[in-house]
Amino acid sequence: MKLTRLLALAAFVVPVLAHAHPGHEGHELTWDFTSGAIHPLSGWDHVLAMMAVGLWAAQLGGRSRWLVPTAFVGLMTLGALLGHAGFAIAGVEQGIAASILILGVLIAGAVKLPVPACMAIVGAFALFHGVAHGAEMPGTASGLSYGIGFVASTIFLHAVGLGLGLVLTSEEKIARFAGGAVAIAGVLAFAL
Ligand SMILES: [Zn+2]
Repeated sequence: MKLTRLLALAAFVVPVLAHAHPGHEGHELTWDFTSGAIHPLSGWDHVLAMMAVGLWAAQLGGRSRWLVPTAFVGLMTLGALLGHAGFAIAGVEQGIAASILILGVLIAGAVKLPVPACMAIVGAFALFHGVAHGAEMPGTASGLSYGIGFVASTIFLHAVGLGLGLVLTSEEKIARFAGGAVAIAGVLAFAL
């Protein structure tokens, strides 16, 4: 059991050590399913926020376990479409950093809110993650493949976070500790 706990924590810490990823300033080199799928996994900002959504959903329990991650995927897709259509929000990077910080705080505090409120919170954060990439995605079949790959990895990260949260249901303190670590990473994200 101790090993499981350590692995669960390592899953949160390791992505923090991975270096920054391309894409937010139009540095993406290839547009296909594979690079779309790799992007959320290669940037610790996305990894932490997306896993945190799953972990928080696990803590919330009930319908939130699938409605909260679904809200993230839905609004991220909407954000990508808006970004692609030329819609821009100021401070996308700050929005992503805030998503990590606030989700971490919500997990650390084991904050439970009504389902629509939880969906609105993660949905608002998801917009930033979507807009960050929608603007630079080409409106071609390869751009679409990239987007599908991106969404697939996002769902995967939600599932990993949810799985971790379910493993830790009997270990509420560890889940909350992980949330604290995520919040600290969120503070660092503002500085980077
Ligand atoms: Zn990114």
